Amino acid sequence: MLSLALRPPSGEPLSVLAIGAHPDDIEIGAGGLLLSLAESDLRAHYVVLTGTAERQQEARNAAHSFMPAADLTIELFDLPEGRLPAMWGSVKEILEDVARSCTPGIIVAPSSDDAHQDHRMIAELVPTVFRDHLYLAYEIPKWDGDISRPSTYVPLPAAVMQRKVELLHKCFPSQRTRDWWDDEVFLGLARLRGMECRARYAEAFTCTKSVIVPAALTRGKTHEKQQLSTRICPNCAGSRAPSHPDRSGSRGSRRITAAGCTLICKAVILRAGEPGEVTR
Ligand SMILES: [Zn+2]
Repeated sequence: MLSLALRPPSGEPLSVLAIGAHPDDIEIGAGGLLLSLAESDLRAHYVVLTGTAERQQEARNAAHSFMPAADLTIELFDLPEGRLPAMWGSVKEILEDVARSCTPGIIVAPSSDDAHQDHRMIAELVPTVFRDHLYLAYEIPKWDGDISRPSTYVPLPAAVMQRKVELLHKCFPSQRTRDWWDDEVFLGLARLRGMECRARYAEAFTCTKSVIVPAALTRGKTHEKQQLSTRICPNCAGSRAPSHPDRSGSRGSRRITAAGCTLICKAVILRAGEPGEVTR
């Protein structure tokens, strides 16, 4: 199967927004992905909606442990656990505030198939706030048996998976007494997901919308942008006199973009037959 690489925009680090309803959600669902992303230049925004002071400290430690070298922003909230559906407005406001403060390339957050009401609540709101993002919905094994069919896999080397489990135990001591919190659950699910993508281990996600751009078209887009942003508009070429301000009042050379002349005449004038141009 052809693998799709997560590459950052040139010259910038990859940026990820990780959202959890509860401390440990992010790490259980996407800890291996975060460990792997953090091996390269990474900008991370880490948000957890609920948690006591003790659990918030665990979340803080975990964010630093899983993404040790990342440019990390941590936002922890103390909304009531198990009651997020009743806090719809607060959750939406928090997510909107986050959206105003960062522009992530990737979002990892709970899945809308998740049986836990807090997880599901976040999953329903994320796509209403983040409209143009790659949203990978992680899975969390639980008593409800809600594991569903994923669409996206992240293969993980055994060493990364072992590190993930080691950090889960180390970072979340308050959870060790839960009857399901053990190596076999974490490694077992990862082994199953690994088998499904021909790897030893993997984390699996649901991605309901993705946009695939062949590399040749990406190059063409860049070429078009460069061409169109530097050409003088033939409609008003040479007219640089102060008597020709554009509609916003600024003056200067005229440029053509895909939408047309951005100064003076505002026309869409693009010649056919040249690379990266559009005719109207
Ligand atoms: Zn949770």
